[in-house]
Amino acid sequence: MDAAFLRRWLGRVSEAVGREAGRLTELDSAIGDADHGHNLRRGFDAVAAGLENEPPATPGAVLAFAGRTLISTVGGAAGPLYGTLLRRAGKALGEEREVPDERLGEALRTGVDAVGQLGGAKAGDKTMLDALLPAVAALPDYAAAAQAAREGAEATVALRARKGRASYLGERSEGHMDPGAASSALLFAALAEVAAG
Ligand code: ADP
Ligand code: MG
Ligand code: MG
Repeated sequence: MDAAFLRRWLGRVSEAVGREAGRLTELDSAIGDADHGHNLRRGFDAVAAGLENEPPATPGAVLAFAGRTLISTVGGAAGPLYGTLLRRAGKALGEEREVPDERLGEALRTGVDAVGQLGGAKAGDKTMLDALLPAVAALPDYAAAAQAAREGAEATVALRARKGRASYLGERSEGHMDPGAASSALLFAALAEVAAG
């Protein structure tokens, strides 16, 4: 796994978020403030553009750049959370040019732990973590991680939100998929696509 692999991943994420922005914003209109798709599109467009203009040479630098860009371009809660995930994962990868898949898995687990620390959410709180935690647990099997993220996102439908904007709705948050869990499933679907070649 090298910097080009992660640049392809983030490029795919940008395409997927662009395609699915309407659906993500619709999910956020049910239990939030109807901006999740737009927030992420702005952020990942900036990531993809930056990676094309000045492609970082190491996997760690690619993720660190993406994380910083999300933090600085996305206004909503998800920007700093995804930004922290990628920045921490990038830091964990260090300066090597070629990294085994196992190390990427460990780095992404470190990043997801940082999301939990920053936002104070746990599994079952109906947030992006309900997709992210099972996904990174399945790495380095990329296909299994994508499936775990998708199933985790689907399982948020039944949950009551305990963190973020949706928690203000109490029991009325039940019966809707969490938008951040839905976007996390897109991230891991894109990773599996790139890994499959
Ligand atoms: P905002 O709620 O500020 O408008 P977004 O709509 O972009 O931000 O993102 C909302 C998503 O962020 C939620 O669906 C949820 O997955 C995630 N989220 C919000 N708060 C937290 C938190 N404390 N921990 C983890 N994820 C969170
Ligand atoms: Mg929102
Ligand atoms: Mg908002």
